Amino acid sequence: MHCPFCRHPDSRVVDSRTTDDGTSIRRRRQCPDCSRRFTTVETCSLMVIKRSGVTEPFSRTKVINGVRKACQGRPVTEDALAQLGQRVEEAVRATGSAELTTHDVGLAILGPLQELDLVAFLRFASVYRAFDSLEDFEAAIAELREATGRAADDDDREAVVDAVTGGQEDERGSGGTAQVPVPANAAE
Ligand SMILES: [Zn+2]
Repeated sequence: MHCPFCRHPDSRVVDSRTTDDGTSIRRRRQCPDCSRRFTTVETCSLMVIKRSGVTEPFSRTKVINGVRKACQGRPVTEDALAQLGQRVEEAVRATGSAELTTHDVGLAILGPLQELDLVAFLRFASVYRAFDSLEDFEAAIAELREATGRAADDDDREAVVDAVTGGQEDERGSGGTAQVPVPANAAE
């Protein structure tokens, strides 16, 4: 790249180091013409195209924040969230494509989240797939049952109620206005 100071078309690398998480390399460069130094960062390009058409770099933090909202009140540790974030990033990077849609990212979240916590999964899926009725939740649970080969039981029904009310006792039966918490950034 050109020297940012004098636009000289060449530069010499004086130092290279990989960042702690191993996802990028920082290079210290010196311009052979004006001798000034600057730093470049080399990273594997992975952009996410939002529904609005805006493109932004993939962010593991955004994935984790979105999933964390769906996990409110659930027995899910920060460690488990971090691991899920890593799995999602590995999955989307493994596709080898440099551009993804938010839909692709949401899809990559569903699998690991289903393994992590079924209620959080239902909350997340309700936003991702735009559920708008109890029947949608029931259909999703029927799918889950089929996938897990598990018979319907009280836990499943409990999961529907939890998913719709956000798992908060004090929101239940308060005039029947069920609220689904929205993991705003996750499926944006
Ligand atoms: Zn220069």
